[in-house]
Amino acid sequence: MTAPLVLVTGGAGFLGSHLCDRLLARGDAVLVLDDFSTGDASHLAHLAASPHRDRFTLRQHDIAQPWPADLPPLRRIYNLACPASPAHYQRHPVQTTLTSTLGMWHALEAARRDGARVLQASTSEVYGDPEEHPQAESYRGHVNPIGPRACYDEGKRVAETLCMAWHREHGSEVRIVRLFNSYGPRLRPGDGRVVSNFIVQALRGEPLTVYGDGSQTRSFCYVDDTVDGLLRMMDSAIEGPINLGNPVEHTVLELAELVLRLTGSRSAIERRPLPPDDPKRRRPDISRAGHHLQWSPRVSLEDGLRETIAYFRQMPAADAGSAQRFSTMNEPIASTSSGVL
Ligand code: UDP
Repeated sequence: MTAPLVLVTGGAGFLGSHLCDRLLARGDAVLVLDDFSTGDASHLAHLAASPHRDRFTLRQHDIAQPWPADLPPLRRIYNLACPASPAHYQRHPVQTTLTSTLGMWHALEAARRDGARVLQASTSEVYGDPEEHPQAESYRGHVNPIGPRACYDEGKRVAETLCMAWHREHGSEVRIVRLFNSYGPRLRPGDGRVVSNFIVQALRGEPLTVYGDGSQTRSFCYVDDTVDGLLRMMDSAIEGPINLGNPVEHTVLELAELVLRLTGSRSAIERRPLPPDDPKRRRPDISRAGHHLQWSPRVSLEDGLRETIAYFRQMPAADAGSAQRFSTMNEPIASTSSGVL
């Protein structure tokens, strides 16, 4: 691969693998760096047999470590590498912090070397447990800097800071998006986030685990809409930040009931303790995305959940596991996970 190319860090992850599919389909050459801590090479295995295979390279690398010296010249960098499920990012909080901060720094260094543009996948978590609703990009957030979520929230906040500092000091082109609760096929059964947990539990006839009284809200954005927003933002003329999320807000209990209806499951709903610092309400104000990117989500929660349920239904029982048995960041890496596809 000699042409300047698009790097996707975390490209073996849930969002990253969908992004790779879209980039390759439109003709880009794509390099993935992924340490497979929460990503899964099987999400990219289909590319080995695809007509795009000559434009695709997969390398195992932890972006918090110094980057390989032999990377080819980069034109665009999508920085997606970081565990995104609270269950995962809290299990290794130091590594999460370093992935967000040192990983960002290394991405920006690579961008400066090659004159590449960097897009940082930031998060609604930068707003913490918000006191402003819905959340516009101008809201500065309400984050507990020493709480269990801080490794992710503050890590992503520092990453945004680094992007803007780099832009001011070195003139690098940066783009920042704040993602709100994406879901869809290729979430792993053991991911631990609410959509995959509820679907796996419903399909297995296990109780759906609602944390707290289920009155907390989220706004769920289907993966195709999120990826469309990432592509538009990378090609846009503004640094951001820009919120990307679905402005339709649901309580967690509503989500549980919808999953039960769509799966036809007779599972019960079981209450579990609410995790500390769990945000009570979350809904994006997406006026900026509409104005600057002509973007708004197209897929309704019901349609997106149908697709996601169909994905989990066709998964072999051996892979489906249990929502309770969270996959760990230390799980052995499959033999297909390293090297070049
Ligand atoms: N949640 C839940 N049951 C689960 C997993 C999550 O009730 O099995 C709740 C969680 O407490 C939060 C919401 O669902 O209020 C979304 O959690 P998730 O981990 O998906 O992402 P977050 O938005 O908190 O980062």
